[in-house]
Amino acid sequence: MNITFHGAAGGVTGSKHIIEHEGKKILLECGMHQGHWRESYEQNKELPFDVSTIDAVVLSHAHIDHSGLLPVLAKQGYRGPIHTTQATAELLRPLLMDAAHIQAEDAAFWKARALEDPTITALDPLYSAEDAETCLSLMVTHPRQEEFTVADIAQVTFTNAGHILGSSQVHLKIGKDQEQRSIGFTGDLGPSNRKIIHDPVPVPPCTIMISESTYGGRIHKPQSTTRDELAKIVSDTYSRKGKVIIPSFALERTQEILYDLHRLYNLGKIPRMAVFVDSPLATNFTEIFSEHLDDFDEETHEFFIDKNKNPFAFKGLVHTADTRESKKLNRYDKPCIIIAGSGMCEAGRVKHHLAHHISDKRNTILFVGYQAEHTLGRKILEGENPVRIFGRSVTVRANIFKISGYSAHADQKQLVENLEKTPGIEKIFLVHGDGSQATDLKEHIAKEHASKKWEVIIPEPQQKFEL
Ligand SMILES: [Zn+2]
Repeated sequence: MNITFHGAAGGVTGSKHIIEHEGKKILLECGMHQGHWRESYEQNKELPFDVSTIDAVVLSHAHIDHSGLLPVLAKQGYRGPIHTTQATAELLRPLLMDAAHIQAEDAAFWKARALEDPTITALDPLYSAEDAETCLSLMVTHPRQEEFTVADIAQVTFTNAGHILGSSQVHLKIGKDQEQRSIGFTGDLGPSNRKIIHDPVPVPPCTIMISESTYGGRIHKPQSTTRDELAKIVSDTYSRKGKVIIPSFALERTQEILYDLHRLYNLGKIPRMAVFVDSPLATNFTEIFSEHLDDFDEETHEFFIDKNKNPFAFKGLVHTADTRESKKLNRYDKPCIIIAGSGMCEAGRVKHHLAHHISDKRNTILFVGYQAEHTLGRKILEGENPVRIFGRSVTVRANIFKISGYSAHADQKQLVENLEKTPGIEKIFLVHGDGSQATDLKEHIAKEHASKKWEVIIPEPQQKFEL
């Protein structure tokens, strides 16, 4: 029995791990590499393994860096099952269809550029909407805490990972008798006291654990501070008669912001104003959230569901239908909140809102998520002034804030807690950590938890281990 780490080894994107036993192969995740677009394109276009040898796929959650190349797998002929939860399968439809649509647009753009300039190479889309549709037809869904068989070699159980709606940790029992191995995989692990969804549930006992380490070197601020920060920023902007522009990821982060705004309205902590969700994808995800009440935690039930209220629907909330409605927001002259994608301001409608609003000192640009290097979001956040938006130089006069407490990932303390709550661990593979995050966690474990005698390994890309 062996495992090969094909992605999210020494980085946070492109998760792909293959477990092999008795000639059968299970692919854990099939994520897209994200980063500089042309480098990522090269990495994403060819899967680093022979697709025809994969017997089954197990998917922990819907995020594109874990699921985004499933349609490439289908395009290259994979027709086996993709095991996941019902909510994950539902979220994947808008997510993968949107990704196919963006790729088709990008390909058309580069084709036109290549016709004008022979030094530019045209790029084909990684996959089409038909490939995405094929992969969606392969989903086999399972409730959490119920064992199922995968590829005739593994007994698999999902437990809640508390990361995003539908997300799971995975437990695999593979092989027989002396040969049997029990393997845990965190997928992406949420912080404890996560908003909206339940907290993580440890997997059953296992000797080998594959743990994410996104924030392996960091400790988060308490979430209560986050909501207070949001209240202050919104109220201050309202008193200046300004608009709050929130660049936000469509999945989970937008729903968290809506949830917090709803709570703050109910508590009378922010003035009433219009809230526009200017992202069809976010609207689509929000509808899926509203159909999974069982996945919501006690707090969400107490404040909303038990009172027959939808946490993501309140007076003054408007979901814009099309680009015409989106453009109308430029002329809206009252204080309001506009939530739009993309989260790092590299594409999408938020770029138009920034172009129109960033030069007005009454307004606020509020970042609620990670801004990668070289993105427009990072430049604004680091105080670049003027900034270039749609090829034009724009002066920044708006107030720029970042709330860092919105995190979908466990911090160092919570990652270790999850390991401690999982009995029997002997060996830990740390994946999904950028820069020093995985090594920070490894060093912390060696220093503070030496008595556990855990062997901690940070795999290199493509590295194979006997289990
Ligand atoms: Zn994730």
